[in-house]
Amino acid sequence: MMRPYHLFDVTLLHRMSLSPSICRFTFGGVEVASIRTCAPDQRIKVFLPNAAGQAPALSPDTWLADYQAMNPADRPPRRTYTIRALRAADREVDIDFILHGSTGPASRWALTAHPGERLQIVAPDAKFDGDPGGYEWRPPPRMDHLLLLADETALPAVAGILEELARTTHPPATEAHLEVPAVGDCLSVPTWPSLRLHWAVREDAPCAAGDFLIDAARNTKLPLAAHPAAAVANLSDIDVDRSILWETQAPPNDGRFYSWVAGEAGAVKTIRQILLKERGLPRSATNLMGYWRRGQVLE
Ligand SMILES: Cc1cc2nc3c(=O)[nH]c(=O)nc-3n(C[C@H](O)[C@H](O)[C@H](O)COP(=O)(O)OP(=O)(O)OC[C@H]3O[C@@H](n4cnc5c(N)ncnc54)[C@H](O)[C@@H]3O)c2cc1C
Repeated sequence: MMRPYHLFDVTLLHRMSLSPSICRFTFGGVEVASIRTCAPDQRIKVFLPNAAGQAPALSPDTWLADYQAMNPADRPPRRTYTIRALRAADREVDIDFILHGSTGPASRWALTAHPGERLQIVAPDAKFDGDPGGYEWRPPPRMDHLLLLADETALPAVAGILEELARTTHPPATEAHLEVPAVGDCLSVPTWPSLRLHWAVREDAPCAAGDFLIDAARNTKLPLAAHPAAAVANLSDIDVDRSILWETQAPPNDGRFYSWVAGEAGAVKTIRQILLKERGLPRSATNLMGYWRRGQVLE
């Protein structure tokens, strides 16, 4: 039976520094021709070298069972990343890694990785002809207004979203708020007349990751479906230190407003409160995703 996802062997071809905090890694290999991506926020799992520095060598057929059976200390760490670009015909796939220091295996690997290193990734298999999932960018067909809130970890996805929209005939009126660590991380992205693009730089600011995005959610000028009466009366609490904050919705077909929010989970939780409770945004138009959590390891 054909499965939606497959474990692919990839080799690092080259690395390119895009900015002080962002490095683009281009991976290649014959198997890359069989990877598929369905949306600009297509997520994948990346298996990294283990604590002993051994490259991941899971079997494509039994990788999950093998991984679970392994002693945790011997396992190749696995983390979630976004396909930034796929050139299947050229057998190349780009992934943008945020360099946030050496406290985590992914960022640590990215700081020093050199061409020739082998990783494994779990990604959608082009041979599967159904919808493999693993993406949340599913805007309604007629979208008048769009709100994008993202920190640097979600910048690869948002850059792809902006590229996709810029290619359409009538891109929606869009507010995009992008928060990054350093001024040099404000990358060039496509724009259009009704796009209001705001970069916020944390550098030297006495604030926590996501604070600028919280302010942006409070102050957005977009005509949100601002019906306090529609506000969610009982918003359930989410312990972002124990579970991943992931509230995504398929929008109704007639939805005219859409929002896509991703970043540090504590900040996304506050934004959830603002958008759903204070601004009365319908859940069906709101995607809220904790991409990482301060002080925690999310596999
Ligand atoms: C759907 C999805 C898509 C993602 N796409 C990307 C992507 O394309 N590029 C990308 O770089 N990241 C992306 N991320 C985020 C990435 O998975 C996390 O940042 C991950 O924790 C990095 O792993 P690590 O091994 O470096 O750190 P971990 O071992 O997971 O964490 C170690 C410590 O570092 C902290 N930490 C983790 N990430 C950051 C950060 N960015 N800044 C500061 N501190 C941090 C943790 O809180 C922890 O204290 C994505 C996450 C999701 C859920």
